[in-house]
Order: sequence, then structure tokens, then C-alpha cells
Amino acid sequence: MVSLENLYISSLETCNLHCRYCYTKKTKNVLTNQQILSFVNRYRRYSNLKSIIFCGGEVFTLNSFPDLINKLNKLGIFITVITNGTIDRLTEIKNPNNCQLLVSFDGPKNIHDHNRGVGNYDLSKSFVRHALDLDFPVEIFFLITKESYPYLNSFNIFGLEKTYLIDRLGSLSSVQTQNVLKNYPTYPPKTFGCHQISLQSDSLIYPCCETNKPIGKISTPIKKIIKNYLDLVHQNPLCVDPDFYCKLKK
Ligand code: SF4
Repeated sequence: MVSLENLYISSLETCNLHCRYCYTKKTKNVLTNQQILSFVNRYRRYSNLKSIIFCGGEVFTLNSFPDLINKLNKLGIFITVITNGTIDRLTEIKNPNNCQLLVSFDGPKNIHDHNRGVGNYDLSKSFVRHALDLDFPVEIFFLITKESYPYLNSFNIFGLEKTYLIDRLGSLSSVQTQNVLKNYPTYPPKTFGCHQISLQSDSLIYPCCETNKPIGKISTPIKKIIKNYLDLVHQNPLCVDPDFYCKLKK
């Protein structure tokens, strides 16, 4: 399924944590609110944009990020934020109902803190509690590694829904990977494929959040970006990056 109604934006790659399983390159690139708003406003002229997923790095390290969410919500755009849940700026977000939080966990406390640093499990769990108290929709982004695999079914944070992420550094066996892909809700959702127009912190536009083959720049005319994107999607309806996700999905 192709959706031009959703954008994926990675504002930066830097983060306040240094997780063992992190795969971002931690470049110093940062997209400003002005750049993002200008791109979004141009994009809206060609698409019925309904939602934007933000990812990093850690977007809450950016002082002006809550202000960006508020401005996008005002345009009627639903926001989803993928976050490690260690920086609580929640009270600055004016419309919690229109801002979903996907908070990443690596499994039980001993595993999570071994990967992410001591104290971070409790910090992220408190963040989730606070978010729920403020009426944010919250889901858990559960990173499946060889250490967390045994907890596939039992891991639980306040009974919240989990979306499963497969460790990209390859600690799972192929049998374990197939089991997760076939039997658990993974990201990106299976019905969605990997397709989504993704604006990354290097100001390039990609046809998927996982590929490294750009289809344009932030300044490229939107019509051209959409055409390049649709051409690629039609060539490969299951996935635009056979080097990564298609291999996992087979
Ligand atoms: S929280 Fe995410 S972006 Fe930050 S270091 Fe950990 S895996 Fe990387």
C-alpha cells in the first residue's frame, strides 16, 4: 500500500544516549523547524497530508521540537514521535491526543540498562506513565535482540501495545527473525510495506526510512519527488530497498 498521506522525518541523528544496538551514524546534521515547516507546507499542496512520523536520534534533545509539534498539530496533522523516553518535555505539547508516542525499550530492566545505560529503564517507564496521565496515545517500541528474544511475549509496560523492531546489527538468527516477522506486529507495518516519503537530517528525500538511495532533496519540486517515489513503488510493490527489508521479509 502506498501512502502519500504520511511523511517520515528524521530531524537529527544525534542522541543523548549511546545504546549498544544503535545504528545511526550520529552525524551533526539537524533540520530546523523552519526547514521542516516549509517542506511540509509545499508538500501539502500536492497531498492530503494527514500524519508525520518523527524519529532521530532523539528529537526531544531539540529545544524547539515541542513547538514544531504544536505548529503541525494546528495544521491538522497527526504526529507520531519515536523516542527513547528519557527527556520529558510532555507538558509543552498542547494537544496530547494528536501526538502519539512510540517509546523504545530493549526488554526487562537489566537488559535495557545494559544496552542503554543504568537508570534509563526507570526514566523511560516514568516517561510512559506521565504520558499516559496526560492522555497521549502511547505504544512500546520493543527492540528484539538475542538478549530480549526470550521476552517476546512476556515483556510488558503498563499493558501497552507493542510494536516489534528487529535488531539491525544482526544478533538474531534467521529463524528468530522469521518468527518475529511472521508472528508479531513489526515496524514498518506489514500492510504498509516500507514505503513512505522520508525526509532525513541530511536534507535528502528517500522512498523509505531504511534505504540509502535518495529520490530528491528538500529543495526538489514536490511533484518530482512524488513522481520518483511512485515510479519506484510501482517497480517494486513490496519494498523499495531489496538490500534490507525484502531480504528480511523472504
Ligand atoms: S536511543 Fe535510539 S538513537 Fe539514541 S542511541 Fe539509543 S538507539 Fe540510538
